[in-house]
Formats: sequence, C-alpha cells, structure tokens
Amino acid sequence: MLFLKNLFYPLHINSIFVSFFIFSLLGHYKMEKVSLQATQTDLLTNLPNRSYMIELLEKKLSSSKKEDQKRTSLIFIEFDDLSRFNETFGFDIDDKLIVQLSHKIASLLETNDILARVGNEQFAIMSQNFHTEESAEIFAKRIIAALYEPFFIDPNMFYVSASIGISLSSADENNGYRLFKAAENTMRKVQKDGKNHIAFTRQKDKSYLEKSIRLMEDLPAAIENGDIYFVYQGQYSHDKHRFEGAELLSRWEHPKYGEISPETFILIAEQSGMIGPLTIKALIEASKMFVHLEAAGIKDFSISINISSVVLMASDFIETVQFMRSNYNLVGKKLNFEIMEETLIQNTDHLVHVLEKIREMDIGIELDDYGTGYASLKYLALLPISALKIDKSYVRDLNRDIKRQALFQAIIDMSRALDIEVIVEGVESVLEDDIVKKIGGIKVQGYLYSEPVKSDIFLNTLE
Ligand code: C2E
Ligand code: CA
Ligand code: CA
Repeated sequence: MLFLKNLFYPLHINSIFVSFFIFSLLGHYKMEKVSLQATQTDLLTNLPNRSYMIELLEKKLSSSKKEDQKRTSLIFIEFDDLSRFNETFGFDIDDKLIVQLSHKIASLLETNDILARVGNEQFAIMSQNFHTEESAEIFAKRIIAALYEPFFIDPNMFYVSASIGISLSSADENNGYRLFKAAENTMRKVQKDGKNHIAFTRQKDKSYLEKSIRLMEDLPAAIENGDIYFVYQGQYSHDKHRFEGAELLSRWEHPKYGEISPETFILIAEQSGMIGPLTIKALIEASKMFVHLEAAGIKDFSISINISSVVLMASDFIETVQFMRSNYNLVGKKLNFEIMEETLIQNTDHLVHVLEKIREMDIGIELDDYGTGYASLKYLALLPISALKIDKSYVRDLNRDIKRQALFQAIIDMSRALDIEVIVEGVESVLEDDIVKKIGGIKVQGYLYSEPVKSDIFLNTLE
C-alpha cells in the first residue's frame, strides 16, 4: 500500500478535500464540551491530555450506577510513526497531521463521546454509545476507513495508518486506569500484526462468548421460523404531506435472550454466511408488502432494503436480485437498496458494475448513514446513487447550532446539484423537523413521524 505521495493538487483532488473539510469542521461540534485547564490539555490540539482522560474515565465509571447497563468503552488509537515525514517535508509536518487527524476523528464521534490526545501519536475515545463489542468494532472500522482518505498539507498528500485497541467495561472490570491500560496494551499487541488492525481486550466474559455462539447457532432457524421478522419505518414527504416510502428493518425476538439488536445479529449473519438468506427474506417481505399496498390502493410507494456490503459484493448478487425480481413480482415496483458509506471503499470497478446493474433494474441506490465518516464527494459524482440518507448525528442539535445548519444546507445543495434525493434520518423533535421542512423537498424518517412497526400497524397508518 502507498503511504506517501507527493503531488500538487490536480483538480480532481479538490472534491475529496472539500468533503474532508466539511467533516473536519463538523467534528468540533460533536464532542462533549469539557472545560479544561492548562494542566489538563494537550497544547497542540486543545484536547484533554492523558492524565485528564484517565481521570475522566475513572469519574465516568465510578458514577455509572450498578443498575445502569451502559458500558463504557475506551478506544485507544496509535498512528504509525508520523515523524518519519518530517525529514522529507519539514520539521512540523507531524504536528500538522496530528491536528488534522484530531479533527477527522472528532468528526466521527457520537453524542457525549470524549476524545483525548494521550501521547505523541496517540488518541483515545471514551464512549458510552456502544453496548456490544460489535458496535464498538463498527465504530473502529469507521476510523480505519476514514484513514483510507488522504490528508493534505499543502502541497503534499499523506496517507497514514493506525492500530486500535478497545476495552469495554464490564461487571468484572470497572476500574478506569486498568481499562485505559488494557486498551493500550491490546493496541500494542495488535500493532505487531501490521497496519490498520483492531483488537479487543479479552476479558474473561464467558457469558458473552456463550451468547455469541448460541446466537450464531440459532440464526438459521430464526430466519426460517419467524423469530427474525421485519418492521417498517415510514419516510414522510413534507411536500406531499404523506408517507412516500418505508425502510424495512429486521428484528430478532430470541426465546432465551429476548430482543437482540440488529447491530449484533447482522454482524453475526455476515460472519456466518446467513446474511444472504436474510436479505432474500427481506426481498420476499417487500414483495408481500407491495401486494398489500396495491390492495389498499396505495401507489407510488417505495420500500428500502438494507444491503450489507458482504451481500452486495457477492459474485451472485445481481443474478439473485434478477431472479427475485422476476419471480416475486418486483418488476415495476419502487424498490431501493440502502448501502453503507463504508461499502464504497471496496473494489471500485466491481462496485461500479454492480451498482449500474442495480440501476438498470430500476432499483434505487441510497447511501445510508451519510456523513458518518467515509463517503467523499468524489463518490457521489462517480457512482449511480439516487438518494443520500443523512445520518441522524447531523440532525441532532440542528436547532441550536447555526454552523451545523450551514453544513447541513451545504450537503443538501450539493445533492441537488448532483440530482440526488435527500432523506434525513433520525428526526425526533418538531424543532429539528421545522428546519428540514423550511429547506423543502426532503423526505424525513424518524421517531417523530413513525417508529419502526410491524406491517399491519404500518399499513393502518397509511390508510
Ligand atoms: P440504519 O439502516 O441506519 O437504520 C436506522 C436505525 O435508526 C434503525 O435502528 C432505526 O430504528 C433507528 N431510528 C429510526 N428513527 C430514529 C430516530 O428518530 N432516532 C433514533 N435515535 N434512531 C432512529 P435499528 O432498527 O436498530 O437498526 C440498526 C441498524 O441495523 C440499521 O441502521 C441497519 O444498518 C442494520 N439493519 C437493520 N435491519 C437490517 C437488515 O435487514 N439487513 C441489513 N443488512 N442491515 C440491517
Ligand atoms: Ca438503513
Ligand atoms: Ca441509516
């Protein structure tokens, strides 16, 4: 892999730069505001320093009540020898990179996450937004994916790599300092495996392991017997004053463990090869829903299905969709595939081919969770994308923050210029909705209009 390239900005690079700029700006507004004294701050980035981060972690863990199920994660990131660039490009290139990296990571944070600079080339994130290893891993993968984009320090372009270690608090481990050190040690071990690796601190959490194994074993039967089922969440059009479409989301009601989050079981399905059958089940479900919609006289209604990258990139995907389309009466129906931003970093030639084939079948392609880290403007112009689903993190606090509104508007203007539809996800409050409504021409999906519900309930809300 290429780690360093020296070049002057050719024009086509500018679009990547613009998107990076937008995301790095956004980063500043996502972090929890922590007021810092000089002894607690890293002077270069103004982030909390190592000792203060450990202090914050200790506080967080001691204040989390026993009955509070929230787990705290510590994500430890170390970049690979940034100072090596100094010899060639000037003595402070590493400092400039550190500042840019801090903005980039900040742009990926979720509400109340705290980012700190805990060493020369080290950052740490404290978060309570991940309840499972899987969700923390998805987040860590986003960080790695974000590093596949270059960093610019005029007139050079740099590629950096990192190693990540993650520890999650548990009943067995709720000491802040130990959690911090465990993540650092894990990062150190994984560093030996090469670039851009992620690893977890393995605690002796047997019950977690047992549960994962059991879920993997139970998954095929659950897809078959209906323990895994689908719910619908409406997409509301302000212009038309009605729901114009819905997203299909999976649910798993496990006989022993109760409701399992899709973030957990989708990952298990991907790892165990069951994501294909689950996607087929989703297509069959959509086909049934179109029949119900037709019977109820509801026309011009779209159904969006989540397509995991494992499925999208499988060699038989297009054939499978063609088969399903003709045999399950999906021709002429408004069907959309939602794909994740991170899918775009895969084998581009094949990806472009697959996406074009999908569009040939009149199936829309929606870029899911837009703005959570990876997608650059370049891809929007290159790939046949029909809609952007702006991630809920953009919408949060929109009403309180003028700068966020400006960024939000910039994304919408850009989509319009490219003739890409916009759907805003996660609209929960009237205030958030009002801002979106004012802009006009955007569909909204969020708890304010519709929670994900079973098909019969959803149909009732339409009629
Ligand atoms: P996603 O595709 O981004 O789906 C939107 C998620 O946001 C859903 O979570 C939905 O319930 C939640 N949501 C909707 N409105 C709001 C809101 O106003 N506020 C907040 N805070 N959240 C809202 P859910 O159902 O837990 O799904 C999580 C993820 O699991 C999905 O994220 C999707 O990536 C994946 N997933 C779910 N079902 C499937 C599936 O059948 N196939 C695949 N491949 N992935 C799926
Ligand atoms: Ca989705
Ligand atoms: Ca989404």
